[in-house]
Amino acid sequence: MQIFLHPDMENVLKRYFGYVNFRPYQREIIENIMQGKSSLVLMPTGGGKSLCYQLPALMMEGTSIVISPLISLMHDQVRQLRSNGIPAVALNSSAEEFDMMTLQRECQDGHVKLIFLSPERLMLELPRLLRSIRISLIAVDEAHCISHWGHDFRPEYSQLGILREKFPDVPIVALTATADKVTRFDILNQLNIPDAKVFIGSFDRPNLSLDVRRGLDSYEKRIAILHFLASHQGEPGIIYCLSKKNAESVASFLQAHHVEAAVYHAGLPLMERNRTQEDFLNDRVQVVCATIAFGMGINKGNVRFVIHYNLPKSIENYYQEIGRAGRDGAPADTLLFYNVQDIVQLTKFARTSGQSEINMERLNRMREYAEANVCRRRVLLNYFGQETASDCHNCDVCQHPPQLFDGTVYVQMALSAVVRANQMISMHTCVDILCGIPSQEVGKYQYFKLKTFGVGRDVPVKDWKDYLLQMLQRGFIEIMYDQHNHLHITDLGRQVLYGERRAMLAVIRHEVQPSKGKRKPFSQKEILPGLWKFPADEPEEDKELFETLRQLRLRIAQQKGEPPFVIMSDKVLHQLATYKPVSMQAFGNINGIGEYKCATYGPVFLPVIIQHKSKSGA
Ligand code: ADP
Ligand code: ZN
Repeated sequence: MQIFLHPDMENVLKRYFGYVNFRPYQREIIENIMQGKSSLVLMPTGGGKSLCYQLPALMMEGTSIVISPLISLMHDQVRQLRSNGIPAVALNSSAEEFDMMTLQRECQDGHVKLIFLSPERLMLELPRLLRSIRISLIAVDEAHCISHWGHDFRPEYSQLGILREKFPDVPIVALTATADKVTRFDILNQLNIPDAKVFIGSFDRPNLSLDVRRGLDSYEKRIAILHFLASHQGEPGIIYCLSKKNAESVASFLQAHHVEAAVYHAGLPLMERNRTQEDFLNDRVQVVCATIAFGMGINKGNVRFVIHYNLPKSIENYYQEIGRAGRDGAPADTLLFYNVQDIVQLTKFARTSGQSEINMERLNRMREYAEANVCRRRVLLNYFGQETASDCHNCDVCQHPPQLFDGTVYVQMALSAVVRANQMISMHTCVDILCGIPSQEVGKYQYFKLKTFGVGRDVPVKDWKDYLLQMLQRGFIEIMYDQHNHLHITDLGRQVLYGERRAMLAVIRHEVQPSKGKRKPFSQKEILPGLWKFPADEPEEDKELFETLRQLRLRIAQQKGEPPFVIMSDKVLHQLATYKPVSMQAFGNINGIGEYKCATYGPVFLPVIIQHKSKSGA
C-alpha cells in the first residue's frame, strides 16, 4: 500500500481516520511536530493522543517510531491502524518475526509508515534497522513510565534519554495521561527535551456519565449492579474491585445471574489473564471483574461502563480507570460505590505505605470527590487544574441536586451514642446501638443499657450508615484508625451535641436503579469538552437496526479474527442506525469512516441497511 503525502491535514484526517474535525489541541500538536519541534502531550485516556503522532506519521517523509510499554498495546494500535488502511508494524521481542531486510526496504519505499517498538527492542535496533531508514518522528507513548514518580515506572524506559543524542534532528513527542507536575518535569528531563512545547489538553470526557452511591454494603452493591446491568444488556464493561477476593466473588455472583463475567487479577496465571483480556477485547465476555492489575493494556474502544466496587485510592487512579470507558466517544456510564469499610481499608494502606502523607492526601481528595455536592465533573476538572464555567448535567449531582435538611437531631443521637460508649465503638456498633440491634458487640459490652440504645430505630439501618458517613465527611466524628477504628467526636461534633451549632445533612436518595434511559441520545456531532448539547432536530436512532448492524459487525469480526470495535466503533454504528445511509457516498460521510473502511465495509453494510429500510418502511 503506497501512502501519498498530502499537504492538507483535514483531508488526511477524513481520508484515513474518517473524522471531520480535530479535537482541541490536536492540530497545534501536529503542526508543532511537523515543524520538527519536540512536544509533550498531556491528555486523558481516550482524549485522542494517538492521532497526534499517527497523522504526522502519514504526512511526513520516512517512517515514524513509536515506543510503547506493552505488547498488547502495540498490537491494538497496529490493528486499528491497519483497519484504516494504514501500514504499520509492531516489533517487540528480539525474535525476528519479520524479514528485517524486507521491512527495511518497505520503510525506504514508504510502504511502512509506523513502527511500534518496545524499549528493549528499540535498543537492539538502534545500530541496525534504525540506522538504515529515514525516521520522521519518535513518539514515546505512556511517557510517564519513565518517571519514578509516576505510578507505572518501567526501568527499560530510563534508557530513552539516548534518543535525543542519536537523533538530534528528529522531533520527539512524549504522550501521557498523567498530569502531575513532577512527572511532567521528569519526562522532559529524562528524554532530554527541556525545550519541548507542552500541550495540556482538556481533561474533560463529557461522554462519561458520573454517578456515586455511598454507604451500600456488599449485598446491596451487588443488587445495584444487577439493576445497572439490566440497562446495559450485552454491553461490555469493567468492574474494579479493591481485592482479588472481591473480584472473584463479584464475578461468581454475576455468573450465577447469567451474566458473562470473568475475573482478572495479578494472582491468576498469565495465560488465563491473557485469555480473559482477549475474550473481553473480542466481545466474548461481557464483564470483567478486576483489580487495578487490569490496566494499561485495555485499549478497547467500546467499553460502555466502568463500575468501582470500592473507592479507588486517588483521583488519578479513578480517572484513568473510568477513562477506559467510552473511548469511541459514544456515551458511557460510570458508577462508584464507597462505604466506610473502603475508607478504613484504604487509610490503612496509605498509612503503611512508604509515602503516607502524600497517599493520605490523595485519598482525602478522592473522598472529597465521592462526597461532593457540587457538579462532580467540576471537582474532577478542578483537580486537574482546569476550570469550567458550567455544570455538566451528566453527573448524579447535576441530575439530582442533593437536598439538605436540618439533621441536628440525628447527629446528636449518633454523637451521644459515641460519647456514652466512651468513644470505644466502631461505626458498625454505633448503628447497632442506634437501631437497637442486640448484636454480639452490644451484648458483650452491655450497650443495651445505654440511654441511646434503640433511640434511632425509626431510621433504617442503611440510612444510619449513610448519615454516619456524612457526619464523618462533615467532620463531626473521626475514625481512630490506630485504635480499632473506634469513633471519636471532634470539636465541631461537640458543638452540635451541645446545641451550639446546627448540622445539615443530605437527604438520602432511595432508588436503587440508576436512572435508566437517562443517557443522552446519540449525536453525530463530535462531543467537545464542556459541550453536551444536541440539536433538537436530530433524527432518532433505529434501535433494531443498531442491533442488526452490531450482529453483522460481530460476524465480520469473527471471520477476520479481529475485535469488533476495530471493524467499526459503536459510535459509527449508532450513526449508521440514525442516518441510515443508502449510498457509498453517504456511507463515507459518516464521522469515523475513512476511505479504506468505506471501500471495505460499504458493500457489506449498505445492503443490510437498505433491506432494513424497505422492511420497516422507513
Ligand atoms: P488516547 O490515546 O488519548 O487514550 P485515542 O488516541 O485512543 O486516545 O483516541 C480515543 C478515540 O478518539 C479513538 O477512537 C479515536 O479514533 C478517537 N478520535 C481521535 N481523534 C479524533 C477526532 N479528531 N475526531 C473524532 N474522534 C477522534
Ligand atoms: Zn455535573
